[in-house]
Amino acid sequence: MATLADQVAIVTGGSRGIGRAICLALAREGAAVIAAARSEDKLTSLVEEARQAEAPGRILPLKLDVTDRAAIDAAVDQIAEQHKKIDILVNNAGITRDGLVMNMTDEQFEEVLTANLRSVFWLTRAVCRHMVRARYGRIVNISSVSGIKGNAGQANYAASKAGVIGFSKTVAKELARRNITCNVVAPGFVTTDMTDVLPEKVKEAVKPLIPCQSFGEPADIAAAVAFLATPAARYITGQVLAVDGGLSM
Ligand code: NAP
Repeated sequence: MATLADQVAIVTGGSRGIGRAICLALAREGAAVIAAARSEDKLTSLVEEARQAEAPGRILPLKLDVTDRAAIDAAVDQIAEQHKKIDILVNNAGITRDGLVMNMTDEQFEEVLTANLRSVFWLTRAVCRHMVRARYGRIVNISSVSGIKGNAGQANYAASKAGVIGFSKTVAKELARRNITCNVVAPGFVTTDMTDVLPEKVKEAVKPLIPCQSFGEPADIAAAVAFLATPAARYITGQVLAVDGGLSM
């Protein structure tokens, strides 16, 4: 029996990388997964991938820009009306605009804060109203090792990802009595478009610092998220699970 049969999930940033792997993992467990992102073509290919893999669940594409608060509210209302409930929310969409703090522009800072942190607030607020009514929910927010340890060149990104941790612990405290959990998964270096842009020299310099000695794969992160999204994880809330090959130890 699939652990997420009959459950409805929203995953932001489902078109690529980690989010795509999360969508597929939840669909494999039987969920109806609303995969939200801006790139429609990539969402279409994700739907096809799930169909070909004969996942017991299904993937429903949703064109959504998570920096658009009004669009989020409208989309969540529509999903709740159509599916009658939302069991799982995974706030995964994220961006980087790196630079040293002394050169960082207001735009660079704001853009990252809005995409990585304000969006998490907007989606959580909209979705948790439905979860509270249903007295059930699993929220998993994607942070980063940078949000735990900081990282030179990423003041904006690290601030947004540390913000996600404080936000999630607070949501966990507010909603625990309603049978809604809120946890954080903090990836280390994972092979996706986001890390593809790093110069080869930087990647090679990072690897020896990772106790497991290699970058993670999107499926490594997805497995942790999929567990936290199950009913079986009901007694875990407000936690930060580093999935980073030991990097943040
Ligand atoms: P990625 O390959 O660059 O993919 C980013 C995803 O976010 C895409 O699906 C993108 O979809 C979506 N996205 C970005 N801006 C969006 C917006 N305004 N509205 C809707 N969707 C948006 O990144 P990734 O590596 O998979 O990262 C996923 C998450 O893990 C991020 O939160 C990232 O910070 C975190 N993380 C990654 C790593 C790593 O090493 N890769 C490490 C630590 C944490 P569209 O472009 O189609 O909209």
